[in-house]
Amino acid sequence: MTLRHLAIVPLLVLMAGFFSLCLAQEEAAPAPPPALGLPNVIDLRVSATPERARLVIDLAGRTEFALVSLAEPDRLAIDVRAATFTVPEPAGKPAGEGVIADYAMEQAAPDRVRTTLTLSAPAQVQQAYVLDAFEGQPARLVVDIIPATAEEFAANVARDLEAAGAIVAAEPTPAGGSELPIATKPLVVIDPGHGGIDSGAEASNGIREKDIVLAFSLRLQELLVASGRFDVALTREDDTFLKLEERVALARSNKADLFISIHADSFQQPEIRGASVYTRDENATDVLDKVLADNENKTDIIAGFAMPQIAPEVVDILLDLMRREMRHQSFQAAQAIVHQLEPSVQLRRFPVRQADFFVLQAPDVPSVLVELGFLSNADDMANLLRGDWQDRTADALARGISTYFDSLAADP
Ligand code: ZN
Repeated sequence: MTLRHLAIVPLLVLMAGFFSLCLAQEEAAPAPPPALGLPNVIDLRVSATPERARLVIDLAGRTEFALVSLAEPDRLAIDVRAATFTVPEPAGKPAGEGVIADYAMEQAAPDRVRTTLTLSAPAQVQQAYVLDAFEGQPARLVVDIIPATAEEFAANVARDLEAAGAIVAAEPTPAGGSELPIATKPLVVIDPGHGGIDSGAEASNGIREKDIVLAFSLRLQELLVASGRFDVALTREDDTFLKLEERVALARSNKADLFISIHADSFQQPEIRGASVYTRDENATDVLDKVLADNENKTDIIAGFAMPQIAPEVVDILLDLMRREMRHQSFQAAQAIVHQLEPSVQLRRFPVRQADFFVLQAPDVPSVLVELGFLSNADDMANLLRGDWQDRTADALARGISTYFDSLAADP
C-alpha cells in the first residue's frame, strides 16, 4: 500500500450561505456530461467523536483534491476531481457526535464533486491524503479533522480568502482596458453592444443596433449619474469597435461593481419580442438563446479578430467559488432589473434568462446583458425608436440597478 500526501491547497470562501443560494440556479442546469478519464466517487463516510472526525471518500481511482475553510456558517469544503458521484447517502449526519453537524455532497462542476461539512464547533484539517486501492478496497481520500480554537479557524478562513484574492488578481486581464477615475461610489460600467465595423442587428428599415444601444446607454448613464449614487462609465461613448474581451477588461481593471451590456438583437422568428435580462451560463440549453449568444460571440470574427480565448479549465476551488458568488449576484441584479421593467415594458416570457455570452465572463464583476427588444419584431422596433419608451425603459433600468445595490447593502 502506498500512502501519498498531496499538497493541500489553501483555499477560500466567501459570504455566508451562498452555497445554498447558488443551488437554486444551478439545479436548473442539465446534468453535465461525464468528464473523461476521471474516476467516480462511489461512497462516503463521515464519523465523529469529541476529539476528532474523519471523512472517507471512496473513489474508483486516484485523483486530486482541494480543501477550504468557510465561515458563517462554519464549514469545511472538500473538492475532488471526479466525473460524478453515486453514493448511497449523499447528505446526512455523521456517525457519532463531534465537531461535524452534518454533511452534503454535490456535483460542483462537470469534473468536480464537492463535500461540505458543516461544523458544530471550530475545527481544522489535521491531515488529508489519498490511498491507492489495495486488497479489494477502492482508492480513498481520507480527511482527518480535529478541534481548533475560534482564532485558528478564523485564521484559516482568512488565509483561504487571501489565497482567493491572489488567484483572481493573478488571472490575466487582457490588454486594452483603459483607466477610469477611481470610484468612490459603486461603479456601474454600461456596455453599449457592438460599434464601429460591427453594426450588430440591422432592421429592414436600415436602423442599426449599435446606434440604438449607444443612444440608450447614454440616456441610462445620465439617469444613474443624476441619482447621485453611482459613478458610471461606458465602454464606448461613440461609434468605436471594441473586442468583447476589451469590454470585460475595462470592467475588471476598474473594479466595476456591476457590468451591464445593452443590446437589441434579432431573431429569425419575427414574432419573438420583449425585453429580457441575461446572466451567463455555459450550459444553458434554450435553442433560441443559444443562437443569440453564438451570434453575439462572433462579434470579434466579424471585425477580423480571432474568437476570444476561452479560459483553460481552472481546477481551483477558489475561482469556482468566486464565479459562483458572481453568478449569484448577477442573477440578483437580473431579477431586480426585471422586477422594475415589468410594470412599464413588454417582457419576454421568462425574462430572466441564461445563455453563454462571452461578454459576461468576468469572474469578479457581476455582469448582465439586457436585450431591450428585438429589431426583428415590428412592435419592438417601433418602441425602440420612441423617445417616451426609451425614457420609461431607462428609468426602469436605473431603478432596477438601484434596488440591486439596496439589496446588497441590506444583505451583505
Ligand atoms: Zn447585440
